[in-house]
Amino acid sequence: MNVTRARFLRNATVGLLAAGVLAACGSGGDTNTWTVGTEPGFAPFETMNGGQLEGFDIDLMNAVGEKAGKTIEFKSLPFDSLIAALQGNSIDAAISSMTITPERQKAVDFSDPYFDAGLAIAVAANNTKVKTIDDLKGKKIAVQLGTTGASTATNIEGTKITTFESAPLALTELSNGNVDAVINDAPATKAAIASGNIPNVKIVGEVLTDESYGIALPKGSENVAAVNSAIAELKADGTYDTIYQKWFDMAPPAAK
Ligand code: GLN
Repeated sequence: MNVTRARFLRNATVGLLAAGVLAACGSGGDTNTWTVGTEPGFAPFETMNGGQLEGFDIDLMNAVGEKAGKTIEFKSLPFDSLIAALQGNSIDAAISSMTITPERQKAVDFSDPYFDAGLAIAVAANNTKVKTIDDLKGKKIAVQLGTTGASTATNIEGTKITTFESAPLALTELSNGNVDAVINDAPATKAAIASGNIPNVKIVGEVLTDESYGIALPKGSENVAAVNSAIAELKADGTYDTIYQKWFDMAPPAAK
C-alpha cells in the first residue's frame, strides 16, 4: 500500500474516531451556533484533507450559516448515526449527501433539495458480465451502512451483502477483489475512482435511481425555513454555482 492510499484510508476512518471524541459536545444552547453533523468519508461532498474538513457540502453549509447569521460548527459522526443524533437534538442539522427519502422524512425534516444524485454500480475494471442491476442477483456486494445504496442492494435477490462504515472502505473491498460490486452514490464513486486510490474499479450501466440530497434537521425544527431561504438566496446570487464549479469543475445542470 503506498503512502497516498494509506492516507486515504486513514482519512476515511478519521471521522469515525473523531465522532467518539466529539460526542460530548453540542451547541450547548448557543443559538448563534449550529452544530452540524457530517460523515467526512464522502468526497467531493465531505472529506478530511490534512486534518481539515472540506467539500461541496461543507462550503454550502458554511454559506447557509452566513446567510442565516449562524456560526457553523461541524461534528463528525458515522453516517448511520446522524438521524439518531438529530432525534436526540445533539446536533442542529446534518449535511452528509443525505438523500431525502420518505422513510427518513418520518424521523427528521429536510430542507429543500440542494443536489441531484443517484446510485451507480461499480465493479472490477475487468468485469465484462455485470451491466445492469439484474446481473447482480446472487452476487457479493459491499455497501455503506445505512445508505440508500445499502437498501437497494438488500432488495436484489440472493445477494451477500457486506457493510462498511464508509464508502471508501466498501470500494476498497471491491478493489481488493473480495466482492463483485459496490452500490453507492454515482458522484462519490466517480470521485473515488478519479482520486486514483481505488485502482481497477469502473462504473457500469445507467444511474439506478433519482435522488436528491437535503440538509436534515430535527423534526419540527424552527430552523427549516431559515435554511430554505438561505439555499434559495445562494442559488439566486450565484454562490451556489461558484461552490458547484469549485468541486465539480463544471456549471450545475439546469434545475429539473
Ligand atoms: N446519499 C446516500 C444516502 O443518503 C449516501 C450518503 C452518504 O453515504 N453520505 O443514503
